[in-house]
Amino acid sequence: MSKEKRDYYEVLGIDRNSTADDIKKAFRNMAKKYHPDLHPNDKQAEEKFKEINEAYEVLSDPNKKERYDQFGFAGVDPAHGFDASGASGQGFGFDSIFDDFIGSFMGGSPFGGGRGGGRRAQQRRGSDKEMDLVLDFEEAVFGVEKDISVKRRIPCGDCNGTGAEPGTKPEKCPTCNGQGKVMRVSQMGGFRFQQVTDCETCRGRGQITRKKCSKCKGTGIVTDIDNIHVPIPPGFPDEGVVIPIRGRGDMEEDGSIPGDLYLNVTVKKHPIFKRDGKHLIRELSVDYLQLLLGDEIPVMTLEGTQAKLKIPPGTKTGETLRIEGKGAPIFRDDKGRRGDLYLTVNCEIPKFKELSAEERTIVEELAKKRLDKIHERFAKQEEEIKTMQDKKNRKDKKKQGDS
Ligand SMILES: [Zn+2]
Ligand SMILES: [Zn+2]
Repeated sequence: MSKEKRDYYEVLGIDRNSTADDIKKAFRNMAKKYHPDLHPNDKQAEEKFKEINEAYEVLSDPNKKERYDQFGFAGVDPAHGFDASGASGQGFGFDSIFDDFIGSFMGGSPFGGGRGGGRRAQQRRGSDKEMDLVLDFEEAVFGVEKDISVKRRIPCGDCNGTGAEPGTKPEKCPTCNGQGKVMRVSQMGGFRFQQVTDCETCRGRGQITRKKCSKCKGTGIVTDIDNIHVPIPPGFPDEGVVIPIRGRGDMEEDGSIPGDLYLNVTVKKHPIFKRDGKHLIRELSVDYLQLLLGDEIPVMTLEGTQAKLKIPPGTKTGETLRIEGKGAPIFRDDKGRRGDLYLTVNCEIPKFKELSAEERTIVEELAKKRLDKIHERFAKQEEEIKTMQDKKNRKDKKKQGDS
């Protein structure tokens, strides 16, 4: 399905100013029209139905709607997200919203009891989980393979999620005859409503367990540690990243769609290096003679190797010099390019007492030769300030005179 995606509002045939109610109404109408039970074996209707559901899934959720309005598909589409699990994302909770409307219009067999092997229309979706993931500065810059452990609700391994004690078998629920759903009829304002709800006896599973599994106490679900491999690519952004990992949240029951796991990533600070996207920045203390006469020195890069820095003669303190290609790798750059390393130089004046008698003599000689020039420059600088101040005073006086 690589065909162009249609705008969600267009899919539901509404405009962007539609209220939540409008959206719901539009969705129900469209979903009724294209429901697969009314179009058996019609691939096109099924696609359309999925499209409608996907649009509704987003537009009915205020958060997702906002993201979609702002960023389009990139704001909500898991394909644009980060699927660390390697498994293809569940995508939109196509099935999860099925329940929301299915009882409202179908009189027949809404859960398609006769259809074998099809999608489980009544599938539930478990809740999402959230976790913090802290990366070292270098890990974010150069990438890292992280293994994290998350406690989540998953199917019981002992009974394979059936809830039945191993060796025994779950039986067909007598209340719903294995359907998992029951039809309820209620009266309201003279209308009869038919509603399909989960069977209470089997909690929607269609099966009951005579002898409960001792590990999961018959629920079919246990809370267990799940180890998840999270590859952090080089050049990973160091601020405000949330990695969604599809399908690694909690499960509601066996066969339900698991929720998602969200990793809130924070990156630790480095004592020396700072980051500005693909560039790295550090400070460098150098002697005034190096700034004055220029120098070529080895400096440490973040990866712990030396790089050659050329200080041009006459470099000022606070100036920033650059070493090309020694910054952070560019995130998801297929050519493996890197940013630059920026070094802000700070002038270091040697301690007077550290100068030897000879050095002092040389410096004094130099000062004697240059002192006139130095004083001249200083006087000029102060003169410029004075001129500026005079000008301002005159202006102020003129203003006072005017008013
Ligand atoms: Zn069990
Ligand atoms: Zn039942």
